[in-house]
Amino acid sequence: MKLPLLEFLACPLCAAPLKLTIFSSGGDWIDEAVLDCACGNRYPVIGGIPVLIEPSLRREILGREERAFWDRHPDLRPSGEAAPDDESRQDKKSAAAVWGYQWQDFHELWQDAAGEDQFYRWIAPLGPQDLQGKTLLDAGCGTGRHTLYSARHAKLVIGADLSFATRVAAKLTRDVPNAHIVQADIYRLPFRPETFDRAYSIGVIHHLPDPEAAYRNLIPKVKRGGSLTVWLYGRENNWLAACAVETVRAILTRHLPLPLLKALSFFPAAVLWLLIKLLYAPLNALAPGLSARLPYNTYFMLFYRLSFRHQWMNVFDKLNAPIANYYRHEEMQAWLDGSGLAGVRLSHTNQISWSLHGIRS
Ligand SMILES: [Zn+2]
Repeated sequence: MKLPLLEFLACPLCAAPLKLTIFSSGGDWIDEAVLDCACGNRYPVIGGIPVLIEPSLRREILGREERAFWDRHPDLRPSGEAAPDDESRQDKKSAAAVWGYQWQDFHELWQDAAGEDQFYRWIAPLGPQDLQGKTLLDAGCGTGRHTLYSARHAKLVIGADLSFATRVAAKLTRDVPNAHIVQADIYRLPFRPETFDRAYSIGVIHHLPDPEAAYRNLIPKVKRGGSLTVWLYGRENNWLAACAVETVRAILTRHLPLPLLKALSFFPAAVLWLLIKLLYAPLNALAPGLSARLPYNTYFMLFYRLSFRHQWMNVFDKLNAPIANYYRHEEMQAWLDGSGLAGVRLSHTNQISWSLHGIRS
């Protein structure tokens, strides 16, 4: 962690400011530390990542990493911390395990030249100029690639993720002075209300136990006049993912060991890759009128520009999630209508997914 992050952090349980005690640092990088709250809770900074998760969920997710940390600092080992009831703890733990595995494996996708273009499609109607000079939250940052892209324009970006993907994100952004990473639960974000000019969350909320609650939970973190943008899976025009793939995921693949599923995902990814290279791309070049009538034409032509590894990750990603929700237009409109946000805009991104945008009034 870098010191400028501290002023933005708050206790995830009581929202009070945190006191930092550093054990090991080098240059601008704080590698090992604790963050203390007046409420009695103490949070570790491990490998440069502040782990601002309530104690019981944190122990489940960090496991021996946390035990080793307190073994190194036995005098500071917390005792009797307040641990709220959390019925979805197991769901959160499963999600953190899957995304931690996926993003540590596919850590290099930020280098994909088409990735930044894809990012701006997802956060439509925002463009680079809308991030200029702003303080941003990337909720569910995964590898930190979107944190990195937006740091090129923003004043400051904080990427938050529950999983060990934060290790990849922290490494990627370590030398970017205005980019910061925290390990946190989207339902208990460690920031005070009205901290961010803009918040966005890409491809995360539809994998959570109570997606709409997670969406609403982001709103208070945005300043008045600031915006919230969220990208989610859509159901319309999306029979392949929302019906076929989703059935296979729910019945079979989400139960498979992750290394095996990753290996098996190679084969459908290769078939899709060939289909795009040998059918979609030539038809788009030679007969655009005809290709426009192919299913998934817009989406697959976006894939055309991504690396094979990126495509492989996309297939693996659709098959490994413990939870996946696909939404209809009217459901998304109802989220926006109930959000209290102004200037709302619902975009049918790539004609198969939804970008929800609104301004906190
Ligand atoms: Zn507290």
